[in-house]
Amino acid sequence: MDVIVQYWLGTFACPTLFRESSNKIRLGRRRHRAKVVGIQSDVTTTQISAHAWQLTRFGLVNAYLVRETDSFTLIDTGLPKGGEAIVAAAKDLNRQAVTPIRRILLTHAHSDHVGSVDQLAQLLGEVDLAISRRESPLLPRPPAQDRALEPGEPQCPLKGGLPGVTTTATHLVSEGELFGSLRCIATPGHTPGHFAYLDERDGTLYAGDALVTMGGKPHVSGWAPWFFPLPNFATWHRPTARQSIERLLNVIPAETPIRRIAPGHGKVLEGGAELLQQALAEAQQ
Ligand SMILES: [Zn+2]
Repeated sequence: MDVIVQYWLGTFACPTLFRESSNKIRLGRRRHRAKVVGIQSDVTTTQISAHAWQLTRFGLVNAYLVRETDSFTLIDTGLPKGGEAIVAAAKDLNRQAVTPIRRILLTHAHSDHVGSVDQLAQLLGEVDLAISRRESPLLPRPPAQDRALEPGEPQCPLKGGLPGVTTTATHLVSEGELFGSLRCIATPGHTPGHFAYLDERDGTLYAGDALVTMGGKPHVSGWAPWFFPLPNFATWHRPTARQSIERLLNVIPAETPIRRIAPGHGKVLEGGAELLQQALAEAQQ
């Protein structure tokens, strides 16, 4: 995956432009425009809801700052060497905070999501690091990393870059757990322990690579568009990825629906069940 990412970044990535996104978002009853609020080095910060900001690097890879009562939770860390810009963005958004980021919550262990974990841990000092229990054996660097598949899982080789990190996870999340304001939902398929996180305050689903929105439409991992095939190359088991999106439609209670999708790659899309249905329709073909 690293090699492919470098290839893509080297040949296709455009410099991030300072412009307001026209992506409309709904905050409460009012409609707002997603607004670029800052640029730190190569990271663009865009407010996506009352509680969250999207941090986009090279226009391709997203992490998210989610505001909690005490500090920010950072969902994913992007590619390597993004730590300083991420911390600077968090400080810009909350100048009073004693600790700019208190928790890092990972959707999965691929290189473009854990790339800056160690740098951030060094910069932040005390920070909680959380990942799903199933994904956690993939988090350490080899040889400590354990790629073994569990009984009952599709016995297909794992794909994508799994470089591992030296920082140790301090918390392993489980299905249904509430981590701060984020409901933890297992969405295996891209990797065996992939999780998505639903902020029940505003309906934002942090989808990691369970859903890709490059090109402005939702795609199940494994069915990403031809011009951004990275998630397809890195998907462990496509049928499981599709089942995870079907499952999302069933497990999310009607009182806390999905209202927007915040993916690891692509723009935030406003909408919920209809977007999942749209992605599933494509993935049936
Ligand atoms: Zn990814």
